[in-house]
Amino acid sequence: MTKKGNLIVISGPSGAGKSTVVFKAVENRKDVCFSTSVTTRKPRAGEVDGKEYFFVDLERFQEMVDNDELLEHAEYVANSYGTPRAYVEKQLEAGLNVILDIEVQGARQVHEKMPEAVMVFIVPPSMDELKRRLEGRGTDTARAIEARLIRARQEYREADFYKYLIVNDDAEQAARELDAIITAEGCRFENRAAILQQA
Ligand code: ADP
Ligand code: 5GP
Repeated sequence: MTKKGNLIVISGPSGAGKSTVVFKAVENRKDVCFSTSVTTRKPRAGEVDGKEYFFVDLERFQEMVDNDELLEHAEYVANSYGTPRAYVEKQLEAGLNVILDIEVQGARQVHEKMPEAVMVFIVPPSMDELKRRLEGRGTDTARAIEARLIRARQEYREADFYKYLIVNDDAEQAARELDAIITAEGCRFENRAAILQQA
């Protein structure tokens, strides 16, 4: 019998280093895949449709919501984002751990629908450092950065339902912690108990 994979939900302020940490954590793992979200946000320079996101207009997004094609969805700084349900369900059934990089409102929806999902919150060591990283990344205007900092504070206040908190000061250390969480969650008794029945 194939063991079902775990749904690993990663959140944290934009610029905290989520992508950086997640990619480092999983580069040598074969048991992990990424869900690609849909968004109404315009692609940033270098972003490719179907890779970072599926870029859609508001009408198509609404159609996906109406057809219940999204596991969760939320608005973030004036754009809509959502997780296509079919891909996630298929990969979990196939035994892979699926990583979602989503903001707090969407994460709360997943937590409520799927209490077994592994909730991980990643933060930078300080708000000053967050601002530096957003400026350093060079992908957002000063106004967008301000909006993201305001949203970050709001997210901190709403984040009490996460199970794990990673402080991304040193990215290597943060990646080791995430790798350890994914491994430990895969070892949970209820995930493996089927083997005891086969004995
Ligand atoms: P997110 O996915 O959370 O929006 P990114 O992974 O894009 O964040 O990281 C934001 C910026 O911060 C990037 O320029 C990245 O290179 C940098 N960064 C990530 N982790 C660290 C770290 N531990 N120390 C310094 N800079 C970092
Ligand atoms: P960005 O515009 O920087 O790519 O993403 C902005 C925020 O949207 C990030 O916090 C990211 O985690 C979140 N996000 C990306 N995809 C989804 C999604 O499918 N659902 C939800 N709820 N949030 C998402």
